[in-house]
Amino acid sequence: TPSLRQHMQRLAAEGIDVVRVTYPDLIGTDRARDILLDHLPSACDHGLAFCRAVYHTSPQGDVVPVSGGLDAGLPDITVRPDLDTLVPLPWEPGVASCLADVTDPATGLPAPESPRDLLRTVLARCAEHGLRPVVGPELEYFLCDEDQASPSGWKRYSGAAGVVYTAGLRADGDNHLLRTLRLLRDMNIGVTSGNHEFDGGQFEINLTHSEALSAADRAFRFKSAIKELARKEGKLATFMAKPFNDAGGSGFHLHLSCENDEGGNAFDDPAGRYGLSATARHAVAGILAHAPALAALANPTVNSYKRFGPDTLAPWLIDWGLDNRSAMVRIPPERGFGARFELRLGDASANPYLLIAGAIAAALLGVLAGEEPPAPLEGYGYDTARAAVLPMSLPAALDALEADTELTDILGKDFTASFLSYKRDEIERFQRHVTDWEFTEYAYHL
Ligand code: GLU
Ligand code: MG
Ligand code: MG
Repeated sequence: TPSLRQHMQRLAAEGIDVVRVTYPDLIGTDRARDILLDHLPSACDHGLAFCRAVYHTSPQGDVVPVSGGLDAGLPDITVRPDLDTLVPLPWEPGVASCLADVTDPATGLPAPESPRDLLRTVLARCAEHGLRPVVGPELEYFLCDEDQASPSGWKRYSGAAGVVYTAGLRADGDNHLLRTLRLLRDMNIGVTSGNHEFDGGQFEINLTHSEALSAADRAFRFKSAIKELARKEGKLATFMAKPFNDAGGSGFHLHLSCENDEGGNAFDDPAGRYGLSATARHAVAGILAHAPALAALANPTVNSYKRFGPDTLAPWLIDWGLDNRSAMVRIPPERGFGARFELRLGDASANPYLLIAGAIAAALLGVLAGEEPPAPLEGYGYDTARAAVLPMSLPAALDALEADTELTDILGKDFTASFLSYKRDEIERFQRHVTDWEFTEYAYHL
């Protein structure tokens, strides 16, 4: 890999004079400082000091403490650029983006809430068992136009009258998708394609599959880039799970497989049941066994659970099926190099690192347990007589995560404690808040 000096020379030659050093926080928000290029060597040597907090980004801007945060006087964390991730931002001339890792200055160790390190920990556990996960993310989001008349200040993108796969100007009057695809390509996000989704103003963009940390990094950067590009166009892009009452939610599907020693696909086995290897079947069984806990990471907001439901194409039951989009785990029809499963559980609000780490940890537990999944779902997937229902609220999912000690042993005590305390604080804040629905429902009739 190039040295710091070589990086500096290359950046200067490309006309870069500012580096945006960004790390993902516990909830997957991008936290950044713009530093002048001259300052990069010192940022690499000493790290950059950020205050240790997770911010709730509502207009109220509450500071939400993670343990060791506000309760300890908001101490510093040290943020160190990972130079291998440097890439020019195609829409911001002179600026390069660089991902960073977060350590605790007191110990020099990764901060417990550092999502990149959490994923590295899970991948190290896989490596102990000779497993090299391969991940392909696909994300959906809504684009919104400003709307003074709406209480939120936004409405769905009005240049879009499309239904799923409507292409071109009929679905996207401002050509948002075309412009976005090209810019993401120029930023090396590794996108393959984009399409209009089921609901007006909703888009999906698919990312290529790769080794898991790179997939998480690219999904994280993808979310920031989409939000940034929308802002540039005076729009809002939201990855909220279920932003509108009159439209479906936004999923964050993960395609998962494993590389074998020959560089082939360890999930493929023409002689295996369903054409899948034992590793693949055990991985599916692990995902099913740990799904309630996994939901806490894949569906991490109060709003997430409003996306689930019958006939939504989001899951509802803990089940799997062969090319069945109503199941939580779908096995796409390709075999050979393309043998994989699609985990449809996650919604777009998930922190990519936590979703990917959780899914891989659950799959690993399945491989280690060596269990077979039950018979796959056939036909309609929303019949509750056929399988257990997913947790239907964030509190239920958090309790399931806390109770799943097999999974939390892999994720680590410190991470789990930070995540649970942050998310339980979120639930408390929500429970105290009076919503519009309550006013409409109760104010007049009671
Ligand atoms: N929007 C659906 C979800 O929330 C997925 C639709 C699709 O299959 O692309 O997961
Ligand atoms: Mg989709
Ligand atoms: Mg999909």
